[in-house]
Amino acid sequence: MTGERPTSDPLHGDMSSEEFRRYGHQIVDWIADYLDQAGTYPVLSQVAPGSTRQALPQQPPQHGESMDAILEDFQRVVLPGVTHWNSPGFMAYFGITGSGPGILGEMLTSALNVNAMLWRTSPSATELEQLTLDWLRQMLGLPAPLFGVINDTASTGVLYALAAAREAIPHLYIRQKGMAGRHELPPLRLYCSQDTHSSVDKAAITLGIGQEGIRKISIDADFRMKPDELEQAILEDLAQGWLPFAVVATVGTTSTSSIDPIPRIADICERHQLWLHVDTSYAGTAAIIPEFRWILEGCERADSLIVNPHKWLFTPLDCSVLFTRRPDVLKAAFSLVPEYLRNNESATDEVPNLMDYGNALGRRFRALKLWMILRYFGQDGIIARLREHIRLARLLARWIDESPNFERMAPTPFSLVCFRAHPKGMDDLDELNALNERIMNTINARGRFFISHTRLNGAMTLRAAIGNLRTTEAEIREFWQQLQEYATI
Ligand SMILES: *Cc1c(COP(=O)(O)O)cnc(C)c1O
Repeated sequence: MTGERPTSDPLHGDMSSEEFRRYGHQIVDWIADYLDQAGTYPVLSQVAPGSTRQALPQQPPQHGESMDAILEDFQRVVLPGVTHWNSPGFMAYFGITGSGPGILGEMLTSALNVNAMLWRTSPSATELEQLTLDWLRQMLGLPAPLFGVINDTASTGVLYALAAAREAIPHLYIRQKGMAGRHELPPLRLYCSQDTHSSVDKAAITLGIGQEGIRKISIDADFRMKPDELEQAILEDLAQGWLPFAVVATVGTTSTSSIDPIPRIADICERHQLWLHVDTSYAGTAAIIPEFRWILEGCERADSLIVNPHKWLFTPLDCSVLFTRRPDVLKAAFSLVPEYLRNNESATDEVPNLMDYGNALGRRFRALKLWMILRYFGQDGIIARLREHIRLARLLARWIDESPNFERMAPTPFSLVCFRAHPKGMDDLDELNALNERIMNTINARGRFFISHTRLNGAMTLRAAIGNLRTTEAEIREFWQQLQEYATI
């Protein structure tokens, strides 16, 4: 079987349509079975470092191989080295779902293989992106006009947003002159909380603002940025010659899913004319639920905002949405049209060329899967599924609160539960940390669940992040059982 030669089409050299059809059906069947059985694999891959690489030939294939041989190795070598984000037991970091309509959308995207850099390089790709993101804007309850563009990740999006924030500072000409060696240039400062995602630090490093250009504002007992301290810091920095230019606030922090006080932060940004970027990568989609609308209160005043459909909107990686009220500034930061890309449309501004709104030239047709997902589930369907995840998180939170051996370590506003084991009589921090580390490692090694951790005020804290459509109450009950079993391990 492994010796079977490929049956490429003699006319064009690609796989023949007959062979494509055969393996296409086979792979779709495999995917359907896999999704049904995702819970039967160890969630966290159990392979040793280096073992996947060592199990495959170290030299590239000289001759073409059959799909049978390739798929056999996929099953035998690749699959054991996969951590199953599709598993109903996946609760580490943030649980995600590559839903059926999203997977099918990805198939069509890769089949069309268009590059959506310019409007004319596929008008549908640009216009579907604009339309779908305007649907999403309406679902989130954000006022128009709001320009949206899809990037691969939030880390890319925040880099672009902060580049725009820097571009918005008047009279500095950083785009033209750069920042190095300019003694007349005051040092730039941006503000975020201690719990802001590390992508903000990386963006500051990349943009030449530097780590010292970030001032981290402390957080209150519920892990929210302290706005008074923010304003104090800005005034202090101004007095010392810094040039404050941006604030990054978060709705749904990575560590605990806490919600910074956006309206008060927006007031401060307006007073000092700072760019406000709001990171709602994970939790923003909760605003689709009517009773959660309030979480984005104040975001109508943000200059930019990110929400990741690939986090909690059932979209296969990757799909991160950057919204901005100031697309002209974003474009001013990035637009650069070489002769070979000049075209009639860019002269009129009637339709956008999305390559103008970021660093990447080539752009995948990511809007197709998101459009299909929004249509397939509908707003009602999405709301019901998000509510269910939140219900499951509250159920687990309640069991933890009622247990003498566990305690919750942070509020549970969404579908992330932060907690630790704390058996009666054990009050030494190091001892508790070691116990909780053992619990996490034991659960992860057992293979049914995968959880991750954070550190809150020095305490090793376990995180159960519910975000996969296949996670049901049965899994949460089983997870709670395992936890109780290991409470004093
Ligand atoms: C996950 C997350 C990010 C990073 O998202 P990527 O798309 O993986 O870059 C940023 N901020 C928050 C709050 C997140 O939860």
